[in-house]
Amino acid sequence: MDSRRLAYLRALEIDVWERRDLPRSTPEPLPAETSAAVVTPVRSIEPVHAAAAATSTGVVGTGLGHAAGLGWEALEQAVRSCQRCPLHQTRTQGVFGVGNRKATWLVIGEAPGADEDRQGEPFVGRAGQLLNSMLKAMGLAREEVFIANILKSRPPNNRDPRPEEVRECIPYLYRQIELIDPRLILCVGRIAAQTLLDTDTPIGKLRGKLHHLAPMQPSGKPRPMIVTYHPAYLLRSPAEKRKAWGDLVLAMQTYERLGGANA
Ligand code: URA
Repeated sequence: MDSRRLAYLRALEIDVWERRDLPRSTPEPLPAETSAAVVTPVRSIEPVHAAAAATSTGVVGTGLGHAAGLGWEALEQAVRSCQRCPLHQTRTQGVFGVGNRKATWLVIGEAPGADEDRQGEPFVGRAGQLLNSMLKAMGLAREEVFIANILKSRPPNNRDPRPEEVRECIPYLYRQIELIDPRLILCVGRIAAQTLLDTDTPIGKLRGKLHHLAPMQPSGKPRPMIVTYHPAYLLRSPAEKRKAWGDLVLAMQTYERLGGANA
């Protein structure tokens, strides 16, 4: 196996089996940058457009509401002091998001867990460590990307977000998307994917394709988005890491292709 690829897979903590009768590859250190040329295509890129019809979250076409027009500081302040849903009564703090505000990659997860609620930063627990490895396998440092969640407040006992919570909170995320203007969104996990794409299609059928996230406001633009498994799920089901790696390869290829198209 190509040694660079081996390094990627090891960074993702994927067990790699090699035939003993063949010369062993020595893993190279992970490169700082990944180009599409070093990754093997895993599947064709099939665009899937999110339906811009009435949605279960009720957000498409509604405008950004309470988050409209806010700059970074006002938006962060609004999130940290938000009392629009009952989750503010049980959270420690609102978790705004972290990273490069001019990032070309935006990672979107579900909601803060216990560690994130305590520390005020998304993806800092075990799942966060695996997310960091996934990013590293793509040649990305955590600080280079922006990481945010659908919900900014922790649901008690990590239960799934409720539609009314998503409705109140999601304008913050859409305003973050508008401000960052990322080239590509990487959506991790079933809840985030189904919420953003307004579907109940299983994640196994959402991953491995290029989607376009419908804008919330009529003047907004559709955003290219790739879906993969949530790192917390991958910790429970390590056999799925190979499929996740396929998604990350697709994301890297799509990112390069979009850069060429927009440059
Ligand atoms: N899971 C998420 O979806 N987001 C976090 O911030 C942490 C865990």
